[in-house]
Amino acid sequence: MAKLVSRLGHIAAEVKDFVDDRFSLARVRGAVTGALDIIFPPHGFEPRDDTADSDGLMQSGMSAGAWSQIRFLANEGCDMCARPFQGGLHFGAGALCSACIDKPFPFTRTRAACLYTEASKDMILQFKHGDRLDLAPMLTRWLQRAGADIFPAADALVPVPLHPSRLRQRRYNQACELARPLSRLVGCTFLPDTLKRPKATKQQSHSAEQRWANVRTAFAVSKAGEKQIAGKHLVLIDDVFTTGATLRACASTLLKAGAKQVDTVVLARAVSQQQEL
Ligand SMILES: [Zn+2]
Repeated sequence: MAKLVSRLGHIAAEVKDFVDDRFSLARVRGAVTGALDIIFPPHGFEPRDDTADSDGLMQSGMSAGAWSQIRFLANEGCDMCARPFQGGLHFGAGALCSACIDKPFPFTRTRAACLYTEASKDMILQFKHGDRLDLAPMLTRWLQRAGADIFPAADALVPVPLHPSRLRQRRYNQACELARPLSRLVGCTFLPDTLKRPKATKQQSHSAEQRWANVRTAFAVSKAGEKQIAGKHLVLIDDVFTTGATLRACASTLLKAGAKQVDTVVLARAVSQQQEL
């Protein structure tokens, strides 16, 4: 036992020297969480039955079986990108995944109501493309719950905009249809016209690099918009966080235009194969 204690003490001293000499605490935390991500890759979550909502089930039009497959999240993942840590592990408030430590997003925090799985995907695509706007009240409550720790200090909600040609094609912007009622629920200003998307982008491709190249310069804030957001804490609202390229471009544009802080609240967090390690 004494030998073990001595050995542990030695390891602790080595870690302290390592930290003091070469790395910041954040970097070390990234290494630790990165290692844990490898040991416990972020997949295979158990459904959370504590978020079952009979009203939601009725409104969704889904079968009880399909509804039970929706994997609701309770802010247990990465603080910056909402990527869950596997196995119910929770590293405490503010913990970041290894990807965010290596390449931080310009937004500070992300909250997601659920994982983007087959079950949630069907419903979100119906809401987005299939004229299921009747789902908006239920999905708005999901966002309200997901961002409950963010909204009280926020000034305004900014929906991720569509290019005008895409808006004509779809007839509505799903992010706007969520952010408008949500702003009333959480007492924030609704800013639907502050962030513009003047540049049309191609259909989303799969790799993170391609997505970023596609959207990097797609957004803009008008002079009038700059006045609205100067020094303000904004929350971007969107349906799905995939690689985060669109949200990165939006947040970067808003911060460059004078916003003080940008956070992100989405319906669903997609976890790709590439992000597992
Ligand atoms: Zn992250």
